[in-house]
Amino acid sequence: MNEQGIVVLGGGLSGLGAAYRLNQDGIKATIFEKEDQAGGICRTINKDDFLFDIGPHIIFSPPAQIKELVASLIDNSEVYCHNSMLYHSQIKGNYIRAPYQAHLYGLPAKEIIISLIDYGLSKFRDEKKASNYADFFRSVLGNRIFKNFFLPYDQKRLRYTPYLLDAEWVKHRVTRPNFFELVRGSLRDTGSSMDENAEFQYPSRGGIQSFINALANRLSFNQLQLNKEVVSIHPRIKKIKFSDGTSSHYSQILSSLPLPEVINMMEGIPGEIREIANREIQYTSGYVINLGVKRHPVSPFRIIRYHEPDILFYRVTIQSNVAPYSAPAGHSILCAEVSYHAERFPLSREEAYLRTVADLKRVGLLEHESEIVTSDVSDLKYCHLIFQCNYEPHLKLVIDFLAHHDIHSFGRWGGWKYLLMGPSILSGIKAADSFLENYKKERKYGLAVA
Ligand SMILES: Cc1cc2nc3c(=O)[nH]c(=O)nc-3n(C[C@H](O)[C@H](O)[C@H](O)COP(=O)(O)OP(=O)(O)OC[C@H]3O[C@@H](n4cnc5c(N)ncnc54)[C@H](O)[C@@H]3O)c2cc1C
Repeated sequence: MNEQGIVVLGGGLSGLGAAYRLNQDGIKATIFEKEDQAGGICRTINKDDFLFDIGPHIIFSPPAQIKELVASLIDNSEVYCHNSMLYHSQIKGNYIRAPYQAHLYGLPAKEIIISLIDYGLSKFRDEKKASNYADFFRSVLGNRIFKNFFLPYDQKRLRYTPYLLDAEWVKHRVTRPNFFELVRGSLRDTGSSMDENAEFQYPSRGGIQSFINALANRLSFNQLQLNKEVVSIHPRIKKIKFSDGTSSHYSQILSSLPLPEVINMMEGIPGEIREIANREIQYTSGYVINLGVKRHPVSPFRIIRYHEPDILFYRVTIQSNVAPYSAPAGHSILCAEVSYHAERFPLSREEAYLRTVADLKRVGLLEHESEIVTSDVSDLKYCHLIFQCNYEPHLKLVIDFLAHHDIHSFGRWGGWKYLLMGPSILSGIKAADSFLENYKKERKYGLAVA
């Protein structure tokens, strides 16, 4: 433990980012991570010579402030094109290009005409007045495009009704073709993705884990403590307990752990805070089903989205097309993502696996079960953030409460923000920055806790 007693909870990208920034100011904060590898949702496992990412990850262009850092962590500079498609069982050829709203070509003529008319009508709606996610989509893309794709896709991905979701978090993420682009994408296959995340990078060896390890290697020896699951935090006596029976004192915590977990493990906190955290901070869980398949290639595409409700998964990444070295010669990796929720959409691991295999056969990615030579199913309790309407005041209350008890919460799950990989590292860096600013001020006036 560093002499200042500052600890970081969680060894995912944001926790690593925070520790990296603290190191720059000479504070070697200990990171406590429950798994035996750093990386959180971004980890890679080796199963029978297949490299499975336990959550499929590709690296999009990072925020300007950390471009250099991110570039220095990737072992090659090759940029891949997304090659992302949407599956549509009702149309000839079964696939249209993503994103849906920019590539209606291939849909029945009637569908295209109604979508174009609805798009035109959407211009009479005021986007700023959209009070929820569904209203927002209808006001920027029209009712038909929303109902045909976004409604079924996000209902399946989030297992939550879009009419109860806040609109803000999605506003900067949706591709908005203008009318000319919409018409052009309806008349022919434009070949372009139009998506700002159309290009990505991926490590040339070792899976996504090699990117994580490169960041972890910037820390000092022994700073990252693995297999250390925090089970309780006692804010009054400033003590953390671990599942292995050991404990540690602290002065300040920088936490990237999911907010509901932290609140539920805190001793002696008001019932009202616990209740708000558990009621208002919602999430959806997911299974990531990786299959090693004895056939190559299985598809020319890299990522395929599935909006049709009778197909269980919402996305399949053909990982061997993202990282050809990740599967032995003549083999491929199919990585399917399935959402569930303990109450809203209960689904066992076994059922998820069996239905995924059956649906992969239906959509033509698997020919026969006997092609599967190995598999892995990861259960991600925290997979999708749910932003309910009016979530913000509740979130602020919980985060402020923690800060008041010297627990500074950040990252995708600690800050409850829709963050990709680069922004997660940045969130850790920023959390450390603001922590350091206050910490230095307090030390100057002799207030810091030793
Ligand atoms: C399925 C999926 C696919 C994604 N794909 C992409 C993509 O392609 N590109 C992209 O840029 N982003 C993608 N993302 C987002 C990306 O994963 C996140 O932005 C980023 O990994 C979040 O990092 P984090 O450190 O904030 O959270 P996490 O990675 O969740 O880190 C939290 C850490 O805390 C640890 N922890 C939890 N509880 C405890 C405890 N009690 N004690 C000790 N440690 C604990 C966890 O093990 C974990 O290591 C994807 C996310 C998901 C879920």
